[in-house]
Amino acid sequence: MDNNINPFLKQKGPKIEDLEQLTCSECGNAIFDMYYRMYRLSALESPTGKSQVFNVPVYVCAGCSNILDIKKLESTPKAAVEKVDDKLKETKDE
Ligand SMILES: [Zn+2]
Repeated sequence: MDNNINPFLKQKGPKIEDLEQLTCSECGNAIFDMYYRMYRLSALESPTGKSQVFNVPVYVCAGCSNILDIKKLESTPKAAVEKVDDKLKETKDE
């Protein structure tokens, strides 16, 4: 039986069970809602001369409404990233 939940992940190599599930740092819940922060670039600063609106997703814990700190996640030590890269390579070579 195929235990991969997401077929896209299967194509890419890593298995869902190899991934670290992210949880809320406040309550440990693993389900998040997605919202957007909205930003506006004024016409004066815009290269097109027109005001532009950008959205950036934020993930909010469904249990306690704590915002998942993406910046902390991005500061993953390089060694840990390389370890994942090695795993991906190994899977590709199979
Ligand atoms: Zn929470």
